[in-house]
Amino acid sequence: MTFSVHGLAVSRGIAIGRAVIVASSRVDVAHYFVQADEVQGEIERLRHARNAVAEEILKVQHSLSELESTDAHPELTALLDVHLMLLQDEQLTGGVKHWIVDRHYNAEWALTTQLEVIARQFDEMEDLYLRERKADLEQVVERMLRVMRGVASPVAGGARPVHDNSTEVPLVLIAHDLSPADMLQFKQSVFAGFVTDVGGKTSHTAIVARSMDIPAVVGARSASHLVKQDDWVIIDGDAGVVLVDPSPILLAEYGFKQRQGEVERERLSRLRNTPAVTLDGQKIELLANIEQPEDAVAALKAGAVGVGLFRSEFLFMGRNGKLPDEEEQYQAYRRAVDGMQGLPVTIRTVDVGADKPLDRGASRAGDDHLNPALGLRAIRWSLSEPSMFLAQLRAILRAAAHGPVNLLIPMLAHASEIRQTLSLINRARDQLTNAGVPQGSVKLGAMIEVPAAALTIPLFLRHFDFLSVGTNDLIQYTLAIDRADEAVSHLYDPVHPAVLHLLASTIAQCREQGKGVSVCGEMAGDVTLTRLLLGLGLRSFSMHPSQILAVKQQILRCDTGRLQTWAQSVLAAEDPAALMVD
Ligand code: PEP
Ligand code: MG
Repeated sequence: MTFSVHGLAVSRGIAIGRAVIVASSRVDVAHYFVQADEVQGEIERLRHARNAVAEEILKVQHSLSELESTDAHPELTALLDVHLMLLQDEQLTGGVKHWIVDRHYNAEWALTTQLEVIARQFDEMEDLYLRERKADLEQVVERMLRVMRGVASPVAGGARPVHDNSTEVPLVLIAHDLSPADMLQFKQSVFAGFVTDVGGKTSHTAIVARSMDIPAVVGARSASHLVKQDDWVIIDGDAGVVLVDPSPILLAEYGFKQRQGEVERERLSRLRNTPAVTLDGQKIELLANIEQPEDAVAALKAGAVGVGLFRSEFLFMGRNGKLPDEEEQYQAYRRAVDGMQGLPVTIRTVDVGADKPLDRGASRAGDDHLNPALGLRAIRWSLSEPSMFLAQLRAILRAAAHGPVNLLIPMLAHASEIRQTLSLINRARDQLTNAGVPQGSVKLGAMIEVPAAALTIPLFLRHFDFLSVGTNDLIQYTLAIDRADEAVSHLYDPVHPAVLHLLASTIAQCREQGKGVSVCGEMAGDVTLTRLLLGLGLRSFSMHPSQILAVKQQILRCDTGRLQTWAQSVLAAEDPAALMVD
């Protein structure tokens, strides 16, 4: 029977496919399709892993039997027996085979999928003893995955497109939670849409979903429990609704909407080479936000005139604590610079912490603290790790020798932070000069993300060449709303008068001083806010490539002279949202 789950619409479009339920802890196994002639090889890898684990268990049992007996032995031996039994269990082995043979999943993916299926059955058991066997099953599967990690699939090495599976069935991923790094792993991957139980509209998971330009709903609370493995699901990324087990009529209706969306995109794509100029002749700069150097391709394709925000932290995440060294970073930044073919690239120094942990469960950048969003994140973390920060600064300065680069610093709030940052930039420059390593000049920018910064703009303008307003964080910190928490997402309000005042005064002060100012938070890519931002005097917008053409379409219809007066009335309103309707 059809039912719906409601969440937050974070990435537009309609996806229709079968559900793949993934537990957060299992996201980091490889997910890809194998070809028909590779199926047998995957089954072999599985068999090998199973035999290796069985051998391990038998060895432990054997060594236990050789030890002098203690009271613990009988229990341990029994437990190992259970593990052996689970290993041979037909539901596990047969189920995994089904995912490999019928769906062409790689072995690890098949194994974790079947684990989810069985784990749910355990959860539903009345008998506590049996219910607790789930942990044993998880341990057994974990051991098999460890063996398989040592014997990588001969066909691994990259995700294959959504429709490359033998059954031609699109798949949508449903998880309780996905970290931004997990999301990145699924970029260009096998999934046609995403749903998570947790997350806010501007959580980094949502941001990465948007950058992938595929439908996504976050904050869907219990979706990962209500939806079953392999259920048919419709994700309506515009309305934030997930329809499970849809009727044929619903399928037809959403299939139609999906095709309409494709036609609309096709139409928008014709604007790619049209200059972003308003009706009254104001030139607007449309820049791209990217997470990886390879995103430069999408940025150019969308007609971006540069990168306004390269979130460099994605190079640092999901690496089991091993951070990229200067050379690796230099190569990555250089790829972005080369990829943009002479257009400027704004590289933001690392911004980890809060909802962007370095590693799942890691505790390096303050993310295990009580209030990670208020903790050691972004520039605070960089200043606490000067040698890491210097390596990044050197890498960016070196990349600047190959094309125009702007250096952007996140989350500054204090004059002392500004002084320390500038002094480290100078030190990085000197280090390169002394070592005879080529470097380029960079424009220096500061992100305005904290109310304290927005209220002391003259300080920033004295030290920086340009400012970039990070509205995602500015809203979070102004309204005291955790941007990643769906429970307070209804209070996350980009047009709250306090936010608009900080934004308007930042833009006005930059313009008065003739300094560049852009918005690189999600507000910049929200077409419902384009007119307001233009009216407030903004002329530079940075957003995900997938949003650029829709925003451009809005810009082409606007007259900034008229919008200016209207924007002032919105600023003065008690309830600005009421004036936002056309
Ligand atoms: C912002 O805060 O608006 C921003 C662009 O930075 P991030 O979303 O990466 O925190
Ligand atoms: Mg930010």
